[in-house]
Amino acid sequence: MRVPTDSPVLVLNQNYEPLNVCGVKRAVVLILKDKAQLLENGRGDLRSAAAHHPIPTVIRLVSMVKRPIFTRRLSRREVFWRDGFACQYCGRRAADLTLDHVTPRVRGGTHTWDNVVAACVPCNHRKAGRSPSEAGMRLLREPHAPRPNPYHHLMYRRLPDKWSVYLPWMREVSVPAQV
Ligand SMILES: [Zn+2]
Repeated sequence: MRVPTDSPVLVLNQNYEPLNVCGVKRAVVLILKDKAQLLENGRGDLRSAAAHHPIPTVIRLVSMVKRPIFTRRLSRREVFWRDGFACQYCGRRAADLTLDHVTPRVRGGTHTWDNVVAACVPCNHRKAGRSPSEAGMRLLREPHAPRPNPYHHLMYRRLPDKWSVYLPWMREVSVPAQV
């Protein structure tokens, strides 16, 4: 089996939290230096002149690494994630969500976490340029800025399905296909 040395390997922290993705070559080096342990291979062996090494797909660092904290940037995707990909007026999970300004921008509503929510197209049309109370609509919950997301850099990558067992956000939310 030929495996490119830059094939992705999931790197878990010592406490099994996902940290990042590296290439096979780097993962093998980490294992050989006793800095990481092999959790899963499944890609066969990497042959060198001296030895055969199992090719890792998931490794775990031997010692704990302090993870970087990423504050969440306000974007459509982040708002949809925060709102669980559900319209915040009717609760429907929709693939064609829109971003709604609770207090419309023309009324001085700000483009801030506490004034934007996910809304389905019918609810957004119904609300139009009005506040929720004027439109006779209610928010399911008050919008707030989400906590910093430690997995930000991994969440938007295309990751193999079989890694989902190691990825907390894949267990929490299943994303509609079109989003
Ligand atoms: Zn709706």
